[in-house]
Amino acid sequence: MKEIWDNALAGIRARVTVENFNTYFRPLRLVVIAGDAVELEVDDEFFRDWVREHYQALLDEAVTEAAGRAMHVDVRVSDRRKANALATIDVEADPEPAADVPIDDAAVPAASETRDFAAFPLNPAYSFDTFVVGPANEMAHAAALAVAQDPARTFNPLFVYGGTGLGKTHLLHAIARSLRATHPELRIAYVSAEEFTNQVIKNIQRQSMDAFRERYRTRCDVLLMDDVHVLAGKERTQEEFFYTFNALHNAQKQIVLTSDKTPQEIPQLEERLRSRFQWGLITDIKAPQFETRVAILQSKAERDDIELPDAVAFYLAKLVRANVRELEGALIRLSAYAGFRGRALTVEFAQEALRDLVENRARALSIDSILKLVAEHFDVKVSDLRGARRHRAISQPRSVAMYLCRKHTQSSYPAIGKGFGGKDHSTVISACRKVKGALETDHTLRTEIEAIERKLPG
Ligand code: ADP
Ligand code: MG
Repeated sequence: MKEIWDNALAGIRARVTVENFNTYFRPLRLVVIAGDAVELEVDDEFFRDWVREHYQALLDEAVTEAAGRAMHVDVRVSDRRKANALATIDVEADPEPAADVPIDDAAVPAASETRDFAAFPLNPAYSFDTFVVGPANEMAHAAALAVAQDPARTFNPLFVYGGTGLGKTHLLHAIARSLRATHPELRIAYVSAEEFTNQVIKNIQRQSMDAFRERYRTRCDVLLMDDVHVLAGKERTQEEFFYTFNALHNAQKQIVLTSDKTPQEIPQLEERLRSRFQWGLITDIKAPQFETRVAILQSKAERDDIELPDAVAFYLAKLVRANVRELEGALIRLSAYAGFRGRALTVEFAQEALRDLVENRARALSIDSILKLVAEHFDVKVSDLRGARRHRAISQPRSVAMYLCRKHTQSSYPAIGKGFGGKDHSTVISACRKVKGALETDHTLRTEIEAIERKLPG
């Protein structure tokens, strides 16, 4: 049983940098292998979230390969850690682990008693040194650098927004890393808005809000909050965050926020928070240009010791445009395949190896996926967009969706009509015209459409 995990680890070691392997995979402890689930545990919620967010697919793939059948990995926070962590105790008891594999007590390091902010793991790959600057991100980069050099002196808060995989979390980690080196006395809190929300809920349940408040409001010098858009609609957490924000800002402590939308675009956000988000500097990160994408690939290849011919870098940079995470993922996969098959990294090999990526992307940008995104954005049902209701709350999103399908897929007007529940092509044409015309004058519509376009894959 344990062999599966050992072999999976060996597979992972071949695919990630030594640094990443030591940081993220070594600390994972095997609890049990039961059925098709490999249960692992770690000491820390941040760490668990991090691993889940960044390495879930790799872990699943590795155990599947090692076992020779479909398996998946479940990473959780150790019970022991939970018992110690004041702010992270779950109300529900955890189920007993099935005793398939004995738990080696000696192998479990004692959980550290302190739950200090300073203890959160920083991704070693996310520093200012490794951040490639180009026209699409230079403003955000410069602002982050200014904040790291002189916290609470320049922009407070600094609000960075942009689509997924464009380096927002990277910049937050870079700020934290740089501050740790130059201002070791500062207590830095890095927390995702989701984690903050969970902490609020748990501390309310445990009636330990006083400790929670003290931790964020008085025992914190720099607050880095990732993905604040998830605060949308979470009234109690927003209220708590409002007071945290005020306490820190009044005490001239630096606050940095990231989001996938501008403060204006975050729905169901209290006005007083929205306005505070705009007190400092708001800056965006856009998808990097071709040259920057090539530079990112080259820098990543150099760090990971991958021999990357320019022609292959160009090919990849043309293929993956809107998401740096995907861009890097394509490179890593490619070099893993090449190594595995003992083949040289050429454009032909890249074309062959990444064929499914290309096909997936074509599929991802389908009429259906645009319908889904638009429905989500305007909070209406996909079936309404496909339907015939003419109420403006439905008909405008429907027109926007048609316009986006025309702009971003290869579909003809009749094909789009068909994808919208069998509408006539003339309906589609007139909707597209209407939106195009409105875009010239209607600023709100333009920002809405831009917000949706940022979420389009590819
Ligand atoms: P976000 O938080 O905006 O979704 P991340 O910060 O997680 O995106 O970035 C996704 C991946 O892309 C990370 O591996 C990050 O290091 C990398 N990345 C993004 N932008 C850059 C850049 N300008 N230079 C180097 N790497 C980058
Ligand atoms: Mg992020």
